[in-house]
Amino acid sequence: MPQIKQMILTPRSSFLKIKCPKCGMERMVFSHSTHKVYCEGCGELLVIPSGGKAIINSEEIRRVD
Ligand SMILES: [Zn+2]
Repeated sequence: MPQIKQMILTPRSSFLKIKCPKCGMERMVFSHSTHKVYCEGCGELLVIPSGGKAIINSEEIRRVD
């Protein structure tokens, strides 16, 4: 019997304010970003897509609702 548990789960996505660990520049990113995000200041890789919630490389993460 097929299970459709996945369809009920709607991942809560949000915008996050993150801070580059290298140069300290802040920027907004999508928590479920599907593409890599680089720092505009120094080019550091800040967001790595992982199929669901993105992996955030930041010393500070704040949610923006
Ligand atoms: Zn930077």
